[in-house]
Amino acid sequence: MVNNDVINEVTNDAMSVDAFLDRCRAIVGAGFVLDTPGDMAPFLRDWRGRFTGAARAVLRPGSVDEVAQLVRACADARVPIVPQGGNTGLVLGSVPDAGGTAVVLSLTRLNRIRAIDAVNRTITVDAGAVLQHVQQAALDAGCLFPLSLAAEGSCTIGGNLSTNAGGTAVLRYGNTRELCLGLEVVTAQGELWSGLRGLRKDNTGYDLRDLYIGAEGTLGIITGAVMKLYPLPKASITALAALPSPAHALQLLSLAQDRAGASLTGFELISEYCLELVATHFPQLPRPFATTHPQYALLEISSNESEAHGVALLEGTIAAAIDAGIVVDAVVATSVAQSRGLWALREHIPLAQAADGKNIKHDISLPVSTIASFIAHTEPLLQQAFPGCRLVCFGHLGDGNLHFNVAPPHGIGHEAFLANQANVNRLVHDTVVAYGGSISAEHGIGALKRDELARYKSPVELNLMRAVKAALDPHNIMNPGKIL
Ligand SMILES: Cc1cc2nc3c(=O)[nH]c(=O)nc-3n(C[C@H](O)[C@H](O)[C@H](O)COP(=O)(O)OP(=O)(O)OC[C@H]3O[C@@H](n4cnc5c(N)ncnc54)[C@H](O)[C@@H]3O)c2cc1C
Repeated sequence: MVNNDVINEVTNDAMSVDAFLDRCRAIVGAGFVLDTPGDMAPFLRDWRGRFTGAARAVLRPGSVDEVAQLVRACADARVPIVPQGGNTGLVLGSVPDAGGTAVVLSLTRLNRIRAIDAVNRTITVDAGAVLQHVQQAALDAGCLFPLSLAAEGSCTIGGNLSTNAGGTAVLRYGNTRELCLGLEVVTAQGELWSGLRGLRKDNTGYDLRDLYIGAEGTLGIITGAVMKLYPLPKASITALAALPSPAHALQLLSLAQDRAGASLTGFELISEYCLELVATHFPQLPRPFATTHPQYALLEISSNESEAHGVALLEGTIAAAIDAGIVVDAVVATSVAQSRGLWALREHIPLAQAADGKNIKHDISLPVSTIASFIAHTEPLLQQAFPGCRLVCFGHLGDGNLHFNVAPPHGIGHEAFLANQANVNRLVHDTVVAYGGSISAEHGIGALKRDELARYKSPVELNLMRAVKAALDPHNIMNPGKIL
């Protein structure tokens, strides 16, 4: 149903390309149609620097109306559009392919905070607003916008919505989808759908909002959104617990949920090898325990009452876990600085991995209850198939989300080990699916995991997805080749 050959009938003709670009310049002004290699370069390279695509031009509209006009120009000329926010996506969704026929449509000039309604607890923003600016605007209004991830200084709300981003507070507040009440979208035909409704209840037919969320720019362009705000907690208290195994981490998660309920706002799993990597590459970060332990859990409890209440809740949880033989040792942060220090250990794991060299990454999700058994089952399989490989396993345990990355054995070059990528992916993804999990928890599909998606989704599910795509983007100009 989706025909990638439909595109580019007109764009291959040089005169038509010139006419198309002239039309774009007339819409946004010549300064916002970038077409030299130097100007386009940052928009064509993916975040990890693994791939650089090619494009006719990078278009930088400054208003929703300009977005709509540009999409109409692209639809008329059948020019493929790659929507782009902060370009921090990790699955090659926000960069064009090497064909050079597409345009990148960058949303970063649409960066206004449009309105805050403190009583309705909503914030209405342009899609190109940077996540950190949205968090700050909420804070200035005395509210919390809970979406938080390490790329928050660069990623945009439109990108967060299009990837249904997760982050560190999903356990309490949900993914970006759960934080969104309304959307404004320019359709693939260049029409404007204004669904900027700040409603918590709206059962009036098919939920178009939920179709565009997580669509990775393949159905239309999100230009604005109404997002939920929450009361600002009085205090957030953090602890790091040392544990004998992932199974003990699951026991601790259950105990913490029973005792703290919705106050448990973070629960991360960290293996000893992850802390070892951080210690090697960031020796300035203090190791929290004198001895090593197989696993660690980072817990965060937020209190809307007081800091004392949060500390008591967390210390009580840890004490109960020690009594039950679940936790071996623990550090509870007694200051904001200490709390930041514990989170810094977690946040430096991806950076330490990068400093260590390339590895084979998996962003997987599993039913929470199966995680310990998944790790216990899969690690020996990996060792059997790739003796000496090193597992870098960490993640948002409370959400059932693991970063399950495989690094080469000592003495084997990182590039050489990457030759095993397909086989390592197969082993891990087959096991994930056998455990009822998903091959992409947070980062999406993009171009990187498209073939994996085709392998693991049922024909019925794939055909339903193709039918949605064909209905909303009949000319297949919206980010073709991504997801499907
Ligand atoms: C250091 C680091 C840490 C990260 N941590 C996390 C994490 O914890 N959790 C997580 O989920 N992700 C994480 N990511 C991935 C990434 O930050 C998220 O996917 C983020 O939501 C992407 O936002 P962006 O604005 O950069 O989007 P982009 O990368 O520009 O685009 C992502 C996708 O959305 C589409 N898109 C972008 N804007 C629009 C729009 N307005 N309308 C339609 N389609 C659009 C693009 O075409 C592309 O397919 C991390 C990335 C980095 C580099």
